[in-house]
Amino acid sequence: MPLLKMGAQLFNTLTRRVEEFVPFDTAGKKVGMYCCGPTVYDFGHIGNFRTFVSSDLLRRYLEFRGFSVTHVMNITDVEDKIIARVRQAGASLREYTSKFENAFLEDMRSLGCVPPHHMPRATEHIPQIIALIQKLIDRGIAYRAADGSVYFSIDKYQASGCKYGRLVNLNFDEMRRGERVQADEYSKESVADFALWKAHVPEDGAVAWPSPWGDGRPGWHIECSAMSMKLLGPSFDLHVGGEDLAFPHHEDEIAQSEGAALQPEGRPFVKHWVHCAHLLVEGKKMSKSLGNYFTLRDLLQKGYGGREIRYLLLKAHYRETFNFTMEGLEEARAALGRLDECLSKLQEIAGPATAEPDPEVIAKFIAALDDDLNVSAAWGVVFDWVRDINRQLAAGEVSNERAAAALATWRRMDVVFGLGQKQESEAPAEIQQLLDERQAARKARDFKRADELRATLKDKGWLIEDTPKGPKLKKVEGVLS
Ligand code: AMP
Ligand code: ZN
Repeated sequence: MPLLKMGAQLFNTLTRRVEEFVPFDTAGKKVGMYCCGPTVYDFGHIGNFRTFVSSDLLRRYLEFRGFSVTHVMNITDVEDKIIARVRQAGASLREYTSKFENAFLEDMRSLGCVPPHHMPRATEHIPQIIALIQKLIDRGIAYRAADGSVYFSIDKYQASGCKYGRLVNLNFDEMRRGERVQADEYSKESVADFALWKAHVPEDGAVAWPSPWGDGRPGWHIECSAMSMKLLGPSFDLHVGGEDLAFPHHEDEIAQSEGAALQPEGRPFVKHWVHCAHLLVEGKKMSKSLGNYFTLRDLLQKGYGGREIRYLLLKAHYRETFNFTMEGLEEARAALGRLDECLSKLQEIAGPATAEPDPEVIAKFIAALDDDLNVSAAWGVVFDWVRDINRQLAAGEVSNERAAAALATWRRMDVVFGLGQKQESEAPAEIQQLLDERQAARKARDFKRADELRATLKDKGWLIEDTPKGPKLKKVEGVLS
């Protein structure tokens, strides 16, 4: 990799500026990265996957830049919305959440996301959660209310010299006014306080664990503090999530984790906070009632491929609100198709030849992404390069070594994008038979029949490309046969 003067620059919500990403590791190599994972009560929507694909891009980029990343993404498998659904479904918590957890993992695979190294479930970390809450009680920052719930006291936390309101500027009078306050939360000392442990109520059904404060379940925020610190240590490098999580979820994670004072002297819970802006659909917040709500599965069912959706999600900068439209998805399909076309021509010319990537193109690509993951500039580099190659291909100027070098250049960049190669789909027997019949018709000079067979194949989603080596079948992306 060419040496560049500056390293990766990344916006840090904590300092509110773009700064060089430097991990705690004195060798500058190891990185601990925690991403808030899905709440598994339903299928993931494309907004969720915008955040997860952005996190995947960031992880891949850090690895590409030579860091050794330990990537943790939790599974929130106990939380208010889940309990409400479990009650409606009459299922056990595990039965219910495992269905959506598996679907989520399958969706992440469809989108080409690299699996995190650890995917801890909240329900499997109750002892760590209880220990952390106990620590906060021992330090006088948390208190047990009359009903057996445990709350975090923001006043006591601030009195201990810590600041609440690190990621966002807070107006304490306005705080949490919008949040739903359960009847049993009136036992809080202050409205700003938040629950660490929620005492069991009849609506929770069988969802409860014993604790020193009585049966109950953890609050959502403490789950992430306990799991991230268990797997990455009390002070780690990078924490990622959607922008809606900055407050209160991440602010509360900081308060709980630093309130427990487990960090080495002078070190924060997390050094670098990264937040991904939201995805809108046709300019509006996605909602089932507006009819603009898409799960990833809805789009796959419409015949779009995971690669096409990933490509679309990778086109916008992570800090820009992304406006999803079906036209945008169609355009993404066409643009990716052009890229694939160019790569497949290169593949044909290159054959088994191998070569090194073009260092100039790679240096421009790195410079673009070093600038706070500027994907638009990075795609600009890719498409200038594709235009150049296409011109050379049209002029017949591409030798097999040159084609191999071009492919190596793309593969190097694709370590970050993770689009992989278009699968030349194997045609099913029925389709292959139609092609054979078409060849036989051509041989017999029955061109009318040959054209009919070509049309039949097209209706079934397969195009015939006549090449010097004979006819090839090409699957039309998105047509389900
Ligand atoms: P959840 O499953 O609701 O806990 O959300 C999982 C992740 O998706 C979190 O990081 C959220 O911030 C993120 N998220 C939720 N809605 C959107 C959206 N419309 N656009 C982008 N990210 C979102
Ligand atoms: Zn979290």
